[in-house]
Amino acid sequence: MPERTQFRSRLSHLECALTGERFEHDHPHRLNPANGKPLLARYDLAKAAETLTKSAMSGREPSMWRYREVMPVIDPANIVTLGEGFTPLLPAVRLGKHLGMGSLLIKDEGVNPTGSFKARGLSAAVSKALELGKMKLTMPSAGNAAGAMSAYAAVAGMEAHVFMPRDAPQANQIECVAYGAELNLVDGFITDAGRISAEAAEKHGLFDVSTLKEPYRVEGKKTMGYEIVEQLGFEVPDVVIYPTGGGTGIIGIWKALAEMQQLDWIGPERPRMICVQAEGCAPLVNAYKNGEEFAEPVANPTTLAAGMRVPAAVGDFLVVRAVRESGGTALTVTDDQMVESVRDMARFEGIFPAPEGGATLAALEKLLDSGEVNPDDRVVLLNTGSALKYLDVLGPALGL
Ligand SMILES: *Cc1c(COP(=O)(O)O)cnc(C)c1O
Repeated sequence: MPERTQFRSRLSHLECALTGERFEHDHPHRLNPANGKPLLARYDLAKAAETLTKSAMSGREPSMWRYREVMPVIDPANIVTLGEGFTPLLPAVRLGKHLGMGSLLIKDEGVNPTGSFKARGLSAAVSKALELGKMKLTMPSAGNAAGAMSAYAAVAGMEAHVFMPRDAPQANQIECVAYGAELNLVDGFITDAGRISAEAAEKHGLFDVSTLKEPYRVEGKKTMGYEIVEQLGFEVPDVVIYPTGGGTGIIGIWKALAEMQQLDWIGPERPRMICVQAEGCAPLVNAYKNGEEFAEPVANPTTLAAGMRVPAAVGDFLVVRAVRESGGTALTVTDDQMVESVRDMARFEGIFPAPEGGATLAALEKLLDSGEVNPDDRVVLLNTGSALKYLDVLGPALGL
């Protein structure tokens, strides 16, 4: 027993991301009811630092649950896992040479269960839902999140309800059905799916695990930040380029960096955080460029990258803040540029990325041209998913 308790979660409370108001973590929460803003998990990091040391990491399991002390699940028996996380951080030597760069790396999230990094968030959220006794889940999703929720709900023996725009990638629709979820196709955008999902939640007592409206998906995604630093030998890269939809990943990585400083893993240094969005759906880029804190919703979002087709983000101010505080930037790329970069990443590196992953490479090329990234910067691209989930859109785009 002593070992088991030593490695336990040091979750202490939840905190409103805007006002800092404190909430207890022992019952299910969604947004701060007072202002509709996200709640973020806080930990006793001094206690966590006693066991979550750099030298302890080599003996830990090769999944995101290796960071147990800073994960929100109290009883390890509640962890719902398919082996997500601890994905490779691959040196992109040939692509780097092609671009004239010295140190380019790709964090390949396409190898996660269900083919995208949504596995991290949903492993965390489904585990915590189980711990809090919530056995019926719902979610509006344009794609990968729904597949991940359905898979983790399946292994946990839970009920899953998915509300998806009718034009969502075929793979996501099929996998949800395969995992035994109830799939509801919605005529309209993700915002319409969100409204209908919320109504169903109300009516049938379903727990909505929409990102950032539920506090723990971001805890799963933050582990990308821990892994990047650990895999670089506890060093921080110069630049992280992130394909941004709702921004959960960028918020999570930024949160992880702050936690790691308190754990004494790193100092005050931070990577420049680069937020990439699609030209046809760029609310966060617009907010950043206009000097605003909150984003205006996009009326008619269009991009083949379903994960970046998010017209309004509840964590908008957290993304914009991370980009500004880090000295990074925000920019758009076109769908054509994404597809061209999908092809480049595939032919130079043997990684067949989701269009969202392609977007990070397209952005890197623009930033090298403008001088905002230097050829000798150590740059990490997040390939957030596998192209194999987008064959219906990528086939025609690649001329097949
Ligand atoms: C959801 C998704 C994104 C966007 O992630 P956020 O953290 O919500 O911004 C990017 N890429 C893929 C493949 C996704 O599924």
